[in-house]
This record gives sequence, C-alpha cells and structure tokens, in this order.
Amino acid sequence: MGDGERRGLLARLEAGSVICAEGYLFELERRGYLQAGAFVPEVVLEAPKAVKELHREFLNAGSDVIEAFTYYAHREKLRLIGREGDLERINRQAIRLAQEVAAEGDALVAGNICNTNAYLPGDRESAKAVRAMFEEQIGWAAEAGVDMLIAETISFLGEAEIAIDVMRQTSLPTVVTFAIHKNGLLRDGATPARAARRIAELGADVVGLNCIRGPETMMVHLRAVRRAVSGYVAALPVPYRTTRREPTFESLTDPQRPEAPFPVALDPFTCSRYEIADFARQALDMDVRYLGVCCGAGPHHIRAMAEALGRRPPASRYSPDMSKHYALGDDAALRQAYRDYAVDL
Ligand SMILES: [Zn+2]
Repeated sequence: MGDGERRGLLARLEAGSVICAEGYLFELERRGYLQAGAFVPEVVLEAPKAVKELHREFLNAGSDVIEAFTYYAHREKLRLIGREGDLERINRQAIRLAQEVAAEGDALVAGNICNTNAYLPGDRESAKAVRAMFEEQIGWAAEAGVDMLIAETISFLGEAEIAIDVMRQTSLPTVVTFAIHKNGLLRDGATPARAARRIAELGADVVGLNCIRGPETMMVHLRAVRRAVSGYVAALPVPYRTTRREPTFESLTDPQRPEAPFPVALDPFTCSRYEIADFARQALDMDVRYLGVCCGAGPHHIRAMAEALGRRPPASRYSPDMSKHYALGDDAALRQAYRDYAVDL
C-alpha cells in the first residue's frame, strides 16, 4: 500500500458507490488463455500480460477495485490439474499483477478467496481443510499489502462463516458475496437474507450477492438482503438474461441449439449495456452501493455501469456518439442523401 492519500473501501462507500469488475475466468477463457471446465487461473503464470491487460481495461472502464486473479487458485483446484506445487507462486504473482495495474490509477487492490468445492456441511474434517485453504490465501494477500479482501461465490453459509472468520484475523475491510442457485437458498438451507445478516453480524463490512444470476433474477434476493441488513450491500450479477424459469446461467437453455449454453455458449443471452446500466441505477436507488458485474462481464458493461452511476471513467472518451454516423447521425456536415437512406438500412 504505502499511499496514505488514497481513500480506502469504507470511505469510498460512505461517499457514494464502489465498482468492482469481476469475471476474469470467463473473459480470459474467451480470449484463449485458460480452460473452461476446471477453470483454474493458470494464465497468471503462463501469460501475465494478458491478466494485466484485462485489469487495465476494467480500470479504464471505471472499476474502483482491481481484484487479484486468485479465484480458484486454491489447493483443491490446483490439485485437480496437478499443479499444487504452483499454489503459492500463482497467488503471489496474481496479487502483484493487480497491484501493478491498480497503481496506474486510483484503484484498490483486493485479495480474493472463493468457494472451495471442498466444504461439506457438518463435516469437521472438511471445515478444517477449508479453513487451511482460506488461511494460506488470505495470508499471502495480507502479506503483500492488499487494501481489502473479497470472499465470493460462496453458496454455503457455513463456508462463508469460515471465510469471514479467517478474513477478520486481518484488519482489512471485507466483502462477502453469496452465489444463489436455482432454489433460491444457500446450500445449507439459509435464505440469502438470513445468511447475509449472519455474516454481517460476524463483522463483514459488505455483504451481498454475486455471480450465477443475471440482473432479472438476482433482484428479488437483493431486495431481501437489503431489508435484512443495515450495513453496506453488494450486487454483482452475471450479464445474462436469466429468467424465472431458468434463474441461473447454468440452467439456461437455448431453443436454437442442442448444446447447454453454460459455460461457453451463453453469447445469445448476453445483457446489453442498457440493461446493466438499468440494474446499476435500480440497485443504487435501493442503497446497494457496492456494484459490479461477474462472469461474462466485458469492459463495456463496466463503463455502462460507471456512467449510470454518474461517473466519467477514462474509457468514456470513446462512449458512443451516433450523431456522426454517416446515415443515422444528425450532424450538419453529413450528406443528406445518405441520411435519407437511413430508413432503408
Ligand atoms: Zn462469476
């Protein structure tokens, strides 16, 4: 850190909104740098420039938080692909990459942990293993001097309780977000509202929802969470048109294709910038101040969100201006014959 001038997470939330771009796994898979399925951020070691470039694009688009790409860089996942020996190196390097880009702007660096896929409710051995996984990742993040900590896409309240307990062993600000599957509950039975209240009581500075659900199907749970807690609330949906019948991006089906859309054929369901902007405005109206977009997010979504919140990030220099379009524009310099042809485009 070392920069006393820079405002921390809580001061920024107090003053207004905070944007955190997520979804690094999806976007770097799409760009050809990691494999769908296992979804392990090997790219941090194999192509660090690609990670920095995406961090930079999100920074320019208005993200206030640069989230170190340590999502799924935990012991369970690295064991799955036979790279457990690279665990520490991948975590330390991911944090360094985030710090280098954050320093190009005024962004906060977040250390990140997520669902372990090792947690089993009521199983003491699994709880111990999960705690050890969180402790090593949080330890590396704290040692590197990150500004804040995020635990995300957690779907067991019990696993979130371990996460917040480990995070609270540091003095860093904390964000905990739940991923809510089809049935609308945490996997160990709690409603999102009860889980959020519990984790807020355990000291999380920000609690809320991320991933899995698009804006349409996250909103009902977001309202419940907002009612349940008095502190800061987070909302980071996936930018996909999930529906009441298919409320999660894993459950979407494509009437035009036999393959499952999740995870690599979700393109036809992608939300437009307008939908993301609408979501940001609605959420802020509810006093949900920590906002972002998860898996599927592109810099254009983040810029739309930032502008909806009244910001003008560097990338706004290139925000659309159709007045100069050769046919659809209304600039006086355009040729009338071309403008007249607009109805025939
Ligand atoms: Zn996600």
